[in-house]
Amino acid sequence: MQPIILAQDLGKTYRSGKLEVPALRKVSFEVDPGEFVAIVGPSGSGKSTLFYILGGLTQATSGSVLIGGTDFARLTDAERTKMRRAKIGFVFQRFNLLPTLSAMGNIEIAHDIANLGAEEKKPIDQPLLEHLTEMLGIKGRLEHRPNELSGGEQQRVAIARALISRPAIVLADEPTGNLDTKNSDAVLHMLRTSSRELNQTVLMITHNPEAAQIADRILHMRDGEITHIENGKG
Ligand code: ADP
Ligand code: MG
Repeated sequence: MQPIILAQDLGKTYRSGKLEVPALRKVSFEVDPGEFVAIVGPSGSGKSTLFYILGGLTQATSGSVLIGGTDFARLTDAERTKMRRAKIGFVFQRFNLLPTLSAMGNIEIAHDIANLGAEEKKPIDQPLLEHLTEMLGIKGRLEHRPNELSGGEQQRVAIARALISRPAIVLADEPTGNLDTKNSDAVLHMLRTSSRELNQTVLMITHNPEAAQIADRILHMRDGEITHIENGKG
């Protein structure tokens, strides 16, 4: 089986003036299609840097990332953007919903953006929308704007937004970092279910070792390196 994500010797050094901050060194791993992988490590260990590189949002200083066999670095900016929109759903710690749109508006615009490069625009998959909003408990909240929703509700909307276009890969950076236990459980359960039921590949970054246990595999990071890989309970 071809891995859906193949990271080889990834390195990233941030430079500002004379200062150099090595954030990643020689990070290599692979993820199989449909696998749920958690990346754990303390603050500053390079998790978000890895998230941005895997999502094509920033470039590595060295090494390569292949997504479904395609090397991000060999694509033009336009091609990379197109691939990112079509293949990857993002979930951020700070939710990042568009404040002027309702919850449903946020889901719709994400679906439209994911379809931008497609030859034929697909309408929203209504049964999937039903399923996601039911499981996430946000059916009655869809007409509300983000500032009328609690943090937990906003993140549940953000999960629906990331999953609505059935991206092959879901990248989540500390998705439960700002949530209470009940909302964390809902978010983790949805990510776990989507990986299992929709055969989505999920890569979830967390500093919470307990949350990481729902994954199939757990990559441990420290000081920009993967120190060891553990099997999860997922
Ligand atoms: P984590 O998500 O695990 O907390 P990060 O990837 O955010 O780790 O950061 C890894 C290292 O890179 C840290 O030392 C951090 O200070 C540094 N870093 C992150 N982003 C930048 C940036 N834009 N410019 C300079 N240094 C950065
Ligand atoms: Mg981070």
